[in-house]
Amino acid sequence: MSEKAFECQMCGECCYGEGGIFLQEGEAERISHFLETDIKTFGEQYCEEKNGKVYLKTGADGYCIFYAKDKGCLIHPVKPKRCADWPFYRANMEDPDTWNLAKQACPGINPNCSFEEFVRQGKK
Ligand code: SF4
Ligand code: SF4
Repeated sequence: MSEKAFECQMCGECCYGEGGIFLQEGEAERISHFLETDIKTFGEQYCEEKNGKVYLKTGADGYCIFYAKDKGCLIHPVKPKRCADWPFYRANMEDPDTWNLAKQACPGINPNCSFEEFVRQGKK
């Protein structure tokens, strides 16, 4: 059996940084439901709007508002698709150079796995 192309090491690196996580259709409802709050409160407390898109806020520590140092993602079961899809983004699957950059940023991407195998597993 081939090696796993990706296994999250929970380092939190991808949860750090200013607002890159936008919500897609239905995600605000799904996360609000998980948090047992209403969508208006969820929007006010955890989101901000930029250029017509809704993004998760960044906390004072520079991490996503839902990132907790010892626990990781506090909304893991319902996290946005943008987070759930990582690292199998189209750009990483189409361009080996982009995939190489992603490997430098994310210790969960297996450095011993070939690009072809990464793509194969990402398409599953
Ligand atoms: S950077 Fe990679 S290994 Fe670290 S938390 Fe994000 S997905 Fe997991
Ligand atoms: S929603 Fe979860 S996985 Fe996504 S950036 Fe925030 S803490 Fe990280």
